[in-house]
Amino acid sequence: MSSIDLRRLGLRSGEVRQEQVEAELDPFLLGGQRYEAHPETVPLDVEITQASGATVFDLRLHVRLAGPCMRCLGFSEVEVDAKAREFYDPSAPAADALRSDYVVDDRLEVGSWARDAVGLALPEQILCRPDCAGLCPVCGKDLNAEPHEHIERDVDPRWAPLEELRDRL
Ligand SMILES: [Zn+2]
Ligand SMILES: [Zn+2]
Repeated sequence: MSSIDLRRLGLRSGEVRQEQVEAELDPFLLGGQRYEAHPETVPLDVEITQASGATVFDLRLHVRLAGPCMRCLGFSEVEVDAKAREFYDPSAPAADALRSDYVVDDRLEVGSWARDAVGLALPEQILCRPDCAGLCPVCGKDLNAEPHEHIERDVDPRWAPLEELRDRL
């Protein structure tokens, strides 16, 4: 996993540093489906600001994820812009908001942070297109390719030819 060695930066109070890091994002599993980052290696922009007590980390990234549409299971792709901020004050108690869990042994674990940030920025539904009609709940056919409805009623056999005609109209 990608990380940034904070000691190497040697920031003094008031200094700001921009770092570019690449991270490989593992696929996301949502509702039993797999969504993969394209390309797999995602560039991350990290801004590190050394305040008097704490260090402030700002993360920005852009990633494209591809996987099955949640309605029709066809190919879908989603663009995700993620932004996140973390603080690290070594004197803050563990589990405090000022003590980021992503800082371990003076290293910012930016790979796992990026993955979590993308997870939080994902849309609730990943669709091939916003108005995807999905699969027919009755017969399972793709309603985008074959729009249709099933009308539930008993048809008098004498009317069947008329029904067929109506279906063709
Ligand atoms: Zn779809
Ligand atoms: Zn159907």
